[in-house]
Amino acid sequence: MKSESKCSFCHKPKSEALVLISGIDGYICDACVEQASQIIQEEFGLGQGGDASVAAMNEVEPIMMTPLEIKERLDEYVIGQDETKKVLSVAVYNHYKRILQEKNEEDGIEIEKSNIVMVGPTGTGKTLLARTISKSLNVPFTIVDATVFTEAGYVGEDVESMLTRLLQACDYNVEAAERGIVYVDEIDKISRRSDNPSITRDVSGEGVQQALLKMLEGTDVLVPPQGGRKHPEQKLIKVNTKNILFVCGGAFAGVEKHIARRINTNVIGYTKGEEHEVDKENLLQYVSHQDLKSFGLIPELLGRMPVLAHLNELDKDALKAILTRPKNALVKQYQKLFELEEIQLTITEEALDFIVDKTMEYNLGARGLRSICEAIMTDAMFELPSRKDVKEFELTLEYAQSKLSKTKLAVLSAA
Ligand code: ADP
Repeated sequence: MKSESKCSFCHKPKSEALVLISGIDGYICDACVEQASQIIQEEFGLGQGGDASVAAMNEVEPIMMTPLEIKERLDEYVIGQDETKKVLSVAVYNHYKRILQEKNEEDGIEIEKSNIVMVGPTGTGKTLLARTISKSLNVPFTIVDATVFTEAGYVGEDVESMLTRLLQACDYNVEAAERGIVYVDEIDKISRRSDNPSITRDVSGEGVQQALLKMLEGTDVLVPPQGGRKHPEQKLIKVNTKNILFVCGGAFAGVEKHIARRINTNVIGYTKGEEHEVDKENLLQYVSHQDLKSFGLIPELLGRMPVLAHLNELDKDALKAILTRPKNALVKQYQKLFELEEIQLTITEEALDFIVDKTMEYNLGARGLRSICEAIMTDAMFELPSRKDVKEFELTLEYAQSKLSKTKLAVLSAA
């Protein structure tokens, strides 16, 4: 006689189980399914209800701040870019207001999401702005690079992987991730163009733009919790992107050409009347969606990023301020490091100017400040911790000059 089927996990016979599900060469009973599901929920923090998950959710409730408060917070960390800060503060405020109103009432008026696109040279603060906002509002944040995305089926990552990172940033709390911020860097690199050198990836970039468009619009996306295509067996997590704020940024090198062309055409259009004086030195301030379209972004995608902001190139004064003013300014960081060794670090004005001049000379943007500082400070940071007699260290112009001339960075200036 054939023996009765049993659960392969707990050996409960079929007659005692509510349901016994059969697999290829085994069985599982309802109780074991339940238990397994609980383990998975605990593992990924996906609990529905339950005290722990409720507490976790409360913790990640966004902090509501007025646009002015957001701007003030940005001022603490980001130098200049006033116009952009204002635009961002308003967009972000409206975004979270919209989420709250959606939760509280249903009067049929649906405020549309305002994703943001920022245009500006590299190293001018685009990522820093997005990161600072997310920190201030206490929402999950992730940075992704648009250049790694390819259309499904090509070598590279699917756009869904950006949500994997967002989930990872908040310990797989789906509710929190659904109101997070994703910063998509190098959005200009997926523009439609014919000179893309790679043959393994989506050549036009348009496929990626289409995929991104769906995300920006707001849709349910099945996200692999570990990301990538390497783990085909993983259970997918459903994430709705409707309330996720996408902030895209790119240098859009050469977009000035399109701006100039458009402005010239417009000027020809006007025969009389007041024409605004065009500041030819800084054409980026006039950037419009139309220019980004000419650059190669598809209109549908641009339509989903209604807020457009530009960032200015950082001048000497801005770079110097970046060195010293923000809450976590480089100089403050070095002073802290020295303080931990009980050494008081001072940097003379001339030395600061020298660092800024060199950064401008090497054309490294704000990121370059750090490389130059490291090059100058390494010797001191190497030697001083073992010199217990030193309590003060003054970084002078001469010291900075002599240290920098000995480093590999000096080669750059010769180039
Ligand atoms: P990008 O515009 O390329 O996204 P980032 O925001 O990543 O540039 O800037 C790189 C680094 O340079 C930042 O981590 C920050 O230290 C510094 N930085 C750039 N712009 C600013 C700014 N406006 N104010 C303060 N720091 C800045």
